[in-house]
Amino acid sequence: MPSQEFNAELLPDLLPVYYKRLFPYSQYYKWLSYGLVPFNYFQKREFSFTLADDIYIRYQSFKDEEDMEKEIKKHCPYKIDIGAVYSSRPKDHRAVAIFTPQEKELVFDIDMTDYDEVRTCCSGAAICRKCWKFMTIAVKILESALRQDFGYQHILWVYSGRRGIHCWVCDEKARVLSQSARSALAEYLQLLRGGDSQAKKVNIPQKIHPSLKRAEEIAKKYFHDLILDDQDLLGTPELWDKILALIPDQTLRDSLGKAMPKCSSSRQRWTTIQTEITKAINKADHKKGLRPHLLTEIILQLVYPRLDIHVTKGLNHLLKSPFCIHPKTGCVCVCFDPQKVEQFNPLAVPNLSQLVEEINSFDAGKTDEERGAIAEYKKTSMKESVLLFESFLAAIAKENSVRRQRSEMYLDF
Ligand SMILES: [Zn+2]
Repeated sequence: MPSQEFNAELLPDLLPVYYKRLFPYSQYYKWLSYGLVPFNYFQKREFSFTLADDIYIRYQSFKDEEDMEKEIKKHCPYKIDIGAVYSSRPKDHRAVAIFTPQEKELVFDIDMTDYDEVRTCCSGAAICRKCWKFMTIAVKILESALRQDFGYQHILWVYSGRRGIHCWVCDEKARVLSQSARSALAEYLQLLRGGDSQAKKVNIPQKIHPSLKRAEEIAKKYFHDLILDDQDLLGTPELWDKILALIPDQTLRDSLGKAMPKCSSSRQRWTTIQTEITKAINKADHKKGLRPHLLTEIILQLVYPRLDIHVTKGLNHLLKSPFCIHPKTGCVCVCFDPQKVEQFNPLAVPNLSQLVEEINSFDAGKTDEERGAIAEYKKTSMKESVLLFESFLAAIAKENSVRRQRSEMYLDF
């Protein structure tokens, strides 16, 4: 069921209710204090608030959970962003001589608007279940690269509440990455290169890297369904010309251009493209510009994750916090399970009005005692996301306790 339409004028009334009754303060604090090792890690974290009328306050920081809860309730921010852990407490930044970002989760930002050239169902900030499949592929490819190529385990995936997804890699070894290591990692994962003026954005060397092979396997599982059926990207001359433009060999491009109108569907056109490219490669004189992995390059250009790598590279880059509210849609920025990303429906993410209704209908006819016996979020459709967040926290608690033991050992010496 799609979320109800949201009236943004209700925000000033609904945000205080959300921050009073639903925001998961204790889990959130538990996450960002990372077992309190070192003890002041949380205090040195930057938060920024966006208030009504786009008033933006940076360099907020909090002493502890209670202080954070008090400040959030006081300001009722329209948006909360999380920044780096600094050398000193961000709220003291003007008073200290040296103030530098030191650690942060490794983050990724993927925005549906960057897929406009490969989607026909929606454009701009719009999103539907068809184009969510691009996000499904992005999650699967990134997850496998982060876990298998880099060995990360504590990865939190969040839907931004409107048109994008965020990925927070929270392992200690990710949080301590330097600016240059983040840049290198982001470049490694960025496959599409060149701006709007460049048609062909994926170029794979002769010897294909195993991680690209893996990405291709994932991409192929969804390619027909998404690209050929849902998006119908070979459906009209205008559309197939864009795909044929990715073929460097002009003779082949021209002959495929003539073959396309004779086919009756995107699937049939893709079969023709595959057959002709494979034939040409098999008898190719590579100097003529035919590339051995041309088909893989085309597939990956159409579905490989389009990353906003500036967000990943910057150690002091802020990113919208999980569990804040998207001010345009009123939707909660919820966590989702990457294993179940295919079933996740962004259109069913609850908005503020819905959450308040859910609490009211749960409470109806119950005594005060009965109402108070259960956490408010459990009365709403936020429940699943909070439980998922809790299981993420339980897993990272083990890493936190290893770190605590290590730091206690140092203290003993
Ligand atoms: Zn769509």
